[in-house]
Formats: sequence, C-alpha cells, structure tokens
Amino acid sequence: MLSLRLFDRASAAGMRILCVGAHSDDIEIGCGGLILQLVASRRVHVDWVVFSAGGARANEARQSAKLFLKGVTRPAVRLFDFRDGFFPYEGARVKEAFEQLKRRAAPDLVLTHYRDDRHQDHRVLSDLTWNTFRDHLILEYEIPKFDGDLGSPNCFMPLDEATCRRKVDYLRRAFATQRDKHWFTDETFMGLMRLRGMECRAPGGYAEAFYSRKTVLEF
Ligand SMILES: [Zn+2]
Repeated sequence: MLSLRLFDRASAAGMRILCVGAHSDDIEIGCGGLILQLVASRRVHVDWVVFSAGGARANEARQSAKLFLKGVTRPAVRLFDFRDGFFPYEGARVKEAFEQLKRRAAPDLVLTHYRDDRHQDHRVLSDLTWNTFRDHLILEYEIPKFDGDLGSPNCFMPLDEATCRRKVDYLRRAFATQRDKHWFTDETFMGLMRLRGMECRAPGGYAEAFYSRKTVLEF
C-alpha cells in the first residue's frame, strides 16, 4: 500500500494538532496511538478539547492528557462540562465553544468524531468540526460501542504492539470510573487495533483507523 507523507518531520515550527472529544476518554480511545506516535516522532503543539468532562471525569481527563502528552511543551487542555447525552439540545452553546476554538492558531491536523457515529454527542461534534474548519486536514476517529456502528475507515495509522499496549495501559490507569463497563477492556481496544492493522498490512500488526472525507492532492 502506498503511504502519503503529510508533514515534514524536521519542520522547526512543529505540527499543530487539535483534538476534539465529546467525553473524557474519547480522544484517547479513538486516536491515542496516533497521538503517542506523533509526540514521539516530532515537535507538536496540541490543543486538547473535551466537551463533557465534569466532576470526577474532569480529573480523569486531565490525568490522561498528561499521560498521552508527556513531552509536549505546554499543551492546551480545555475542558467543558456540557451535559452528557444532551449535545443536540445544547447546540447553540456547543457551537459558541467552536467559535472560540476557531480564533486559536490554525491546526495542521484536526482529530474529531466519525460523522456517522451512533452517539448523538459524537455526531454533533463531528458536524461542528466540519462547519468550523474548512481549510484543514480533518481525520475522524472511531469509538467501539454497544450500538455497533463501526464502518469501513479509509485512512490508517500503523502502530506497533508496544505503542498499543501503552495506550490501553494509560486508558486503564486514567479512567477508573469506566473500568466496570463491559466494553472498556484491553481486549476491546487491542482487538479493534489488531483488525485495523490487518486491514492496512501494518508491519507491527496494529493500527488505528480514520475517515478522511476529503483529501486535496498537490505534487
Ligand atoms: Zn464519547
């Protein structure tokens, strides 16, 4: 499979990444491996925004961002406390939060939820990401869930097993409130990454997968 090399690794200015997540563990589950890989391989500036992280979940989100962004200089971690499950009914306020994000430095890469995710909060954020960022590379990540909404992603980030194990270890350590959920297990996360790794013939056997809805080529 032909790979596209998107950013110059040696760029002194570094790469700006905006991570958008509805709940405190979404970014990590969807693209934690990609983040670990980017942080390890180049200079990155990170805006990390979680829209529903109140109470104990705010502490978890902060602790987890610290683990995943170890080595990043002054990451901007922003937490809102919109009501879980009610984003479609809080649309105006959520949209205003995106307007604030737009005023920050333009990201090279935006990571957000999958447009056809069955969780209503995830879908709202995906739509608002596309409304707000019209001249940016946007990759939509996937979240395994009860609803069974996994599709056929078209963009893959190959990962090695050690990076994937680190990701699930951080998830387990940071999100104590989720540990008793039937789906929140190492096997769920490793299994999905193994399947995506198989689909893209990842040398290390694992991958995270994304939807790249639009790509403009320049040679
Ligand atoms: Zn979520």
